[in-house]
Amino acid sequence: MTASRVLVLNSGSSSVKYQLLDMTDRSRLAVGLVERIGEETSKLAHEPLTGPGAAGGRRERLGPIADHGAALRAVAAELAADGLGLDSPELAAVGHRVVHGGTRFTQPTVIDDEVLAEIRSLIPLAPLHNPANVTGIEVARSLRADIPQVAVFDTAFHSTMPEYAARYAIDAATADKYSIRRYGFHGTSHAYVSRATAALLGKAPSDVNVIVLHLGNGASASAVRGGVCVETSMGMTPLEGLVMGTRSGDLDPAVVFHLARVGGLSVDEIDSLLNKKSGLLGLCGDNDMREVQRRAEEGDSSAQLALASYVHRLKKYVGAYSAVLGRVDAVVFTAGVGENSSWIREAAVEGLEELGLALDPEANAVRSREPRLVSAEYARVAVAVVPTDEELEIATQAYALVTR
Ligand code: ADP
Repeated sequence: MTASRVLVLNSGSSSVKYQLLDMTDRSRLAVGLVERIGEETSKLAHEPLTGPGAAGGRRERLGPIADHGAALRAVAAELAADGLGLDSPELAAVGHRVVHGGTRFTQPTVIDDEVLAEIRSLIPLAPLHNPANVTGIEVARSLRADIPQVAVFDTAFHSTMPEYAARYAIDAATADKYSIRRYGFHGTSHAYVSRATAALLGKAPSDVNVIVLHLGNGASASAVRGGVCVETSMGMTPLEGLVMGTRSGDLDPAVVFHLARVGGLSVDEIDSLLNKKSGLLGLCGDNDMREVQRRAEEGDSSAQLALASYVHRLKKYVGAYSAVLGRVDAVVFTAGVGENSSWIREAAVEGLEELGLALDPEANAVRSREPRLVSAEYARVAVAVVPTDEELEIATQAYALVTR
């Protein structure tokens, strides 16, 4: 029996999302989420999808979980209760989502002490994300030191961007000294979705040019030429680019000087303002797109303005990336908003006939979990909706690395 299971861990500052997959048929064996780690009100929601526990459905455990170590041990106990324990010889690898790989990590990488130290050294570039990723790796290694732990980086897919796209136009020596450049994020999703879009068109990834719009709470666009990323909207950090749930996206950097000099805000206050209190939330007080749409439909003018800004920014990126690619075969929507909001898709594409884009309103209105085309028959450029699956992509990359 060859080991075919992969545990995927996505460790955030106070949460751990996980999935256990069987790579022989890419099926999910169990999924779950630990939230509010370190608080009194921690919650573990676990759902076995196969085996004796599956009939019981989703289970929730409430009560304090002190740290990531305790969280992973609790997850391990839930899995063991379902006959899916992490001590199983069937577990081939643990795949870790790691947000920042800097310029060093452009491929999934088996983690040893040196790799872990390097991921730790990238913390200044991703202070909100990499520390939790490091903790998740340390804990998983302590649970199963004998199997490979694989890091899959959010930045990796974007590492193929040409230097002129990755460079900011600032003093080159300063940029190099402080590792300032465009890295891009959500890369696992952009990789998966651009490949799935090629499959939907019945073509090889190398034969298609795709604009991917990953619209979740965080949001990013990428231009993918022949399967290779050539541009993306997030930058040195996930703050740049599209209007997001709570992030501003593009902004004149002088706004930061102004807030410091005139507003007297500290660097940390500005960081929090732009990352946590801006975007849809800053414009209208809500960051959940469903709520923003509901309020806009009821005539709320700040919600309408927030939606208009969101859509305007999206259109600017579609236009810009059409120019970057020259020929576009498909524009694809993914993640929570992109997969579910027919309204946003319609608004984003409206008026872009000159770029070859037009929707089929009926196809666009259909709700589905399947990859699908929503463009009008006559449109030169396909418009697609492709549900992203970052966990499956992480598992696939990790498994391929440990079995090759
Ligand atoms: P994350 O970046 O946290 O992974 P998701 O990809 O889950 O985010 O996307 C979350 C966003 O998707 C939220 O803004 C939510 O409002 C939005 N969303 C989910 N379902 C719908 C829907 N039916 N219509 C509009 N927006 C939706």
